[in-house]
Amino acid sequence: MDQYVVVGNPIAHSKSPSIHKYFAEQTQQELTYSTLLGDDVQFERQVRDFFANSGKGMNITLPFKERAYAMCDVLSKRAEQAGAVNTLLMSENGDIFGDNTDGFGMVRDITHNHGRVLTGKRVLILGAGGAVRGVLEPLLSEKPESVTIANRTVEKAQALAEHFDCLASTFEGLEGEFDIIINGTSASLSGNLPPLKDELAGSKTWCYDMMYGKERTVFLQWADDHGGKGADGLGMLVGQAAEAFYLWRQVRPDTASLVALMRKQMEAS
Ligand code: NDP
Repeated sequence: MDQYVVVGNPIAHSKSPSIHKYFAEQTQQELTYSTLLGDDVQFERQVRDFFANSGKGMNITLPFKERAYAMCDVLSKRAEQAGAVNTLLMSENGDIFGDNTDGFGMVRDITHNHGRVLTGKRVLILGAGGAVRGVLEPLLSEKPESVTIANRTVEKAQALAEHFDCLASTFEGLEGEFDIIINGTSASLSGNLPPLKDELAGSKTWCYDMMYGKERTVFLQWADDHGGKGADGLGMLVGQAAEAFYLWRQVRPDTASLVALMRKQMEAS
């Protein structure tokens, strides 16, 4: 049976095995998908050994996405722009091909599952870490009117803005109402909110938090308090996995039913 694996450290709580098993059942594909605890010293060797032993594809998660990027022979455009990969496969001539499906997963969630239009919109993205870098190319390809990156360490926002040809700001320097605000900071993980002015969101603003969880995140509560609407990043997680599945199997699984199921399970837990 074709073997797939997700590598990270820690990895025990990864949702990827159950997501891919669901996709495999749904599309009637015969495969196995397991976790592999990434080794800080031996990571590159783990990847090469996996493919040498007929492994078909890997997902890469924290903290190895940049190291995986560095060892690819061929990269997709979006992986090249992201400077990180989350999906690997081996081509017929033995090259390691790397892709980054995180941004695709997010943009598809926003535009397909939530029916939001990014084209022509004034977009604000909070944070300038790996997740934001990974989504900028697919986000910009939707042709928003403008994308402003705001980050606590403004130099990081400036570096990304220069690379992707968009705008950079401190949180304090932001002005006026945005159409779409995307939270790509890890502040929500600790229940914190970047210092956002009231004027940034209004009734026309739609907010997206890359983080997801049982409770509505502090960022989405802020959106609610400002008359806006919003969604969390569960659909992004499932969407990036679906795109990886498609790269490996050339079959596109349905994501809506899995998002609904995972939401139900999360709420019941
Ligand atoms: P990084 O560690 O690379 O970056 C963290 C970012 O958050 C930095 O910009 C950092 O600012 C900022 N930040 C952290 N704490 C605060 C705070 N208290 N106030 C303001 N800014 C803060 O993390 P990632 O980019 O990998 O991940 C970011 C988020 O995206 C996480 O919540 C993660 O769970 C989520 N994510 C979700 C995915 C999904 O599939 N749904 C996929 C990938 C990520 P500074 O530069 O100043 O330190």
